[in-house]
Amino acid sequence: MTFSQIKGQDKIIERLETAIRQGNISHAYILEGEDSHTAALLAAAFSTALQCEKGGLPPCHDCLPCRQAETGNNPDTIRVTHEKPGVISVDNIREQVVNDILIKPFYSRHKIYVVPEAEKMNPQAQNALLKTLEEPPEYAVVLLLTKNAESLLPTILSRCQILRLAETEEELSSLRAEAVRLLKTTGDPRMSLVTDTIRVLKEEKENIPAFLNLMTLWYRDLLLLKSAELKEELYFRDELAFLQKEAEGSGYEALSEKLSAIEKAKEQINANVSLETVMELLYFNISQ
Ligand SMILES: [Zn+2]
Repeated sequence: MTFSQIKGQDKIIERLETAIRQGNISHAYILEGEDSHTAALLAAAFSTALQCEKGGLPPCHDCLPCRQAETGNNPDTIRVTHEKPGVISVDNIREQVVNDILIKPFYSRHKIYVVPEAEKMNPQAQNALLKTLEEPPEYAVVLLLTKNAESLLPTILSRCQILRLAETEEELSSLRAEAVRLLKTTGDPRMSLVTDTIRVLKEEKENIPAFLNLMTLWYRDLLLLKSAELKEELYFRDELAFLQKEAEGSGYEALSEKLSAIEKAKEQINANVSLETVMELLYFNISQ
């Protein structure tokens, strides 16, 4: 699999190729998109290019890692599997990633771990992976494939470069759109602005944690912009102009307080405080 065989994902491919060319590879990437097949193809093409002994752009098809990639059995490129269909457990992650990653690559420059359906990692599995992402060996690259990055812990997201696949019809999920709408109104003291959000969340209560995570990502983006102008790594890149203005007008302390307010709201939801109370208080706090 090579990048030239994948259609409609030019932006992501350009970013990955630039990273290879510049020798500037992150230890962790998230490939997010509804089309899990294309995400898997991108992961395979990136892995092949990274492991090729001749630089990989395009892969030489001749070196040992390239020939192994063609048959899908490069021992240094590991596809993480799970036996239970609904969950990737902490044991899956420990055995196949956390312990295995300590063994140096056999033939290749990198040791690459591809985790399909990464949203199925339970919190314990994600926390085990987090420890690895905090101090990865030099040669390690982890590729998380998911339909829904918001379902991953914010601590995982903050360690990863998030690459969103382009869709034929690029349509934001309604939850994401609702989060953007609310976050762009903060500063306006009318409580009616949060009433719509509460109604949306009441319709599908299982979305509440994901919605709060989206809010965390928004303020994380503002901190990224403030601290390093890291436009490439923003989750809400499509709102760049608005975020830049917000970042200029916000202090670090105020942003940290807003992130703390969101964390507090998550705790209150877990403690069964009513959605209205939590969201109204949260909206009040982030509107300060
Ligand atoms: Zn090669």
